[in-house]
Amino acid sequence: MTTITMTTTITKNQLVAWIQANAQAINDHVDELNRMDAAIGDGDFGASIQRGVNAATELLPELDDADIGTMFTKIGMKMMSKMGGTSGPLTGTLYTKMGSKSKGKLELTPSEFAEMFITGVEGVMKLGKAKVGDKTMIDAYYPAAQKMVEVSGKGGTVLETIEAGVNAAKTGYENTAEITASKGRSSYLGERSLGAIDPGAYAGYMLLNALYNVVK
Ligand code: ADP
Ligand code: MG
Repeated sequence: MTTITMTTTITKNQLVAWIQANAQAINDHVDELNRMDAAIGDGDFGASIQRGVNAATELLPELDDADIGTMFTKIGMKMMSKMGGTSGPLTGTLYTKMGSKSKGKLELTPSEFAEMFITGVEGVMKLGKAKVGDKTMIDAYYPAAQKMVEVSGKGGTVLETIEAGVNAAKTGYENTAEITASKGRSSYLGERSLGAIDPGAYAGYMLLNALYNVVK
């Protein structure tokens, strides 16, 4: 008889592995992210997010005993202080808001994860006043968050939920090449931002892809 083990929650250890996997992916793509930002902005996005994710991984050892909420809150505060530019406070807020939603938790059901993630994304949207279609990180994050809420709400497993999220984020970041920017530095370019992918949206996809690689 074969026993099928279903993973029904995302554990804190998996979330720690997520932070590490995302940092690795960002470090592997720093130059690309800088070039993408140089095309429609000032070219610092890769370097900035690299500082943020590396500060987050450096913080992990002292978060060994922390619950998920404390971990994300501290990581968000740290990233905010280390990253510059527009993306610093926005990225930091994604994590601090996720932290407030997961206070005291040591594991998350797919729905709890999705609700935590969308809370973070809505925090970013409130702060930056960007919506889907403005050619920002929100174009990857928000459709991903909505899709994960939907799939987990229908009883989707961890893998089904995250896979749906990463696919939505991919479509979302790819679509940023088809639209002009209405927020941030790239909005100064008007039509000239057409054809370029937004680096923040690309990094948003990378974040979900890192989690997919951890849970698959
Ligand atoms: P800057 O150098 O212009 O200060 P960064 O290079 O730190 O900005 O970040 C650029 C990224 O920030 C963009 O690719 C975009 O995804 C994101 N961004 C810019 N403005 C907003 C906003 N209002 N809301 C959400 N994301 C935004
Ligand atoms: Mg920049």
